[in-house]
Amino acid sequence: MADLKLTQLHKHYGAVHAVRGVDLEIPAGEFTVLVGSSGCGKSTLLRTIAGLEQADQGSIEIAGQVVNDMPPRDRDIAMVFQNYALYPYMKVYDNIAFGLRVRKMPEADIAQKVKSAADMLAIGHLLDRYPRQMSGGQLQRVAIGRAIVRNARLYLFDEPLSNLDAQLRDEMRSEIKRLHQELGKTFIYVTHDQIEAMTLADRIVLLREGQIEQAGAPLDMFERPATQYVAGFLGSPPMNFVPARLVAQGGGYAVRLEDGAELALPPARVAKLAARADQPVTLGLRPEHMSRAEAALRPGLARYSSRVDLVQPTGSRTYATFKLGGVEAIAELDAHDVQRANERIELALDMNRAVLIEPSTHRVL
Ligand code: ADP
Ligand code: MG
Repeated sequence: MADLKLTQLHKHYGAVHAVRGVDLEIPAGEFTVLVGSSGCGKSTLLRTIAGLEQADQGSIEIAGQVVNDMPPRDRDIAMVFQNYALYPYMKVYDNIAFGLRVRKMPEADIAQKVKSAADMLAIGHLLDRYPRQMSGGQLQRVAIGRAIVRNARLYLFDEPLSNLDAQLRDEMRSEIKRLHQELGKTFIYVTHDQIEAMTLADRIVLLREGQIEQAGAPLDMFERPATQYVAGFLGSPPMNFVPARLVAQGGGYAVRLEDGAELALPPARVAKLAARADQPVTLGLRPEHMSRAEAALRPGLARYSSRVDLVQPTGSRTYATFKLGGVEAIAELDAHDVQRANERIELALDMNRAVLIEPSTHRVL
């Protein structure tokens, strides 16, 4: 049985249709990440699951029971909010213990639960402090501690790391993933950050304008996006998109760019493309699927020569901006592959990894 099942869920705020017919099943123990750009309805969906917002249409089932009309505290969920939502006048211990006291757990049991959560989160030495005496990362741990002492069925997280600086965010990300492995509970985690989504999730649910654009395992979504939107959302720097045309070339097919360059497609890809010869197509190529060309190219690589407009070294890799068929594109190269702007370089484009998109529907072919 799914731990959570949403059926045709809708939520409006006045004229704003924030959640537009979401169907989703989450099996017990899964780490699901709801990801999407700001305003796409992630928080609304999470708050509706928690019961902090009322659904307008559709059903929410937790462990097989419809909970639409059940108040939040009876729903068997624990939630971590983006702004922590700690009680400022309570010490850390009391903040963590609060939900257990509300549920009338004996103090001795509470003490033991708070201690074990505090140990897991390395905040045992902070239990006597007030929230104002603590850093953002420490507050975040307290907020997580308050959620995990509850023996809930579903754990909901709304962008819990977005207020932290980059290094702490990376640390806390690993800790949340480890916590999920230790607890084995169902986690539903909201973020706008695609890297966070990729690294944490068993399954990513990509939301767009209140609807699910695509759901799947992180690497499946990354390697087999269903739409141009998904292809462009996952990956950093993002996939390059270039207008092109599919043309017959020497018994096979190639994509012809607007500057006339023809990039041969590997034979394995051609069978389902034959019907589209001479049609426009959008070529999608990730920065990491381009490299400096060797004298002889492996099968499936296409040579392309261009002048580099901008060079951005990151240390381990260097990003080169150049024109690909008339549009600006970025290649992720080895650190020393290109030294300065205006250099001409020969690139090898990995057409085995290229994505071809139908330009009118934005669907991947
Ligand atoms: P996200 O968390 O993905 O950034 P939200 O779920 O917060 O997005 O918001 C989805 C849409 O609903 C946005 O257009 C937002 O402006 C709107 N919205 C969210 N909360 C309210 C509210 N309380 N009243 C009116 N509109 C809201
Ligand atoms: Mg939000």
